[in-house]
Order: sequence, then structure tokens, then C-alpha cells
Amino acid sequence: MTLQQKLIVRNDGKCELCNKPQGLAIHEVAGATYSDADGSILICTKCLAQIDKKEELDPAHVRNIRLVPDNTDQIEGRIEGQQIVILTKFVRKQN
Ligand SMILES: [Zn+2]
Repeated sequence: MTLQQKLIVRNDGKCELCNKPQGLAIHEVAGATYSDADGSILICTKCLAQIDKKEELDPAHVRNIRLVPDNTDQIEGRIEGQQIVILTKFVRKQN
């Protein structure tokens, strides 16, 4: 199973942050030194844009993540009931 397949299976082919099914791409998170599913998330372009700070966070779109008030380098999220922290500087685009 490829990494992308694992990620799709993990969250039913939906964005792991907002559960929308469109525009998904794999992104590495939190300075992961591994390139497997534990070091990656499948998120949509809308969430990526917000993580990249190209767009203001839209509370109606993002239900599962929030900015850490005193640390703009981090976004906290919840995936499968587990708290995760995304370090924005480590979110990289894959073309
Ligand atoms: Zn999303």
C-alpha cells in the first residue's frame, strides 16, 4: 500500500482537518523524520492555504484545527480523537 493509499484509508479519503473530500494532497507535518503515514497528513488545498497563512483561518471551514493563541508557529488539531500539533514551518507542499 502506498503512503497515499494509507492516508486515504485512514480518513476515508477526506481531508484530515476538515473532512472535505476535494483537493487533497499529502503534506508532511511536524518535522517528521519519517516519510510514512505517521509523518504525513492528507489535507485539502483550503486547509493548506490556511496553514500557509495565505488565507485567514475560516472557522466555518476548519472545525478540527485551531491556531495556538500565543504561538503562531503551531496549529493544533484533532485526528481520530488524538491531539496533534502541526508546526507550520514544517508543512511542505508536494507538487
Ligand atoms: Zn481541509
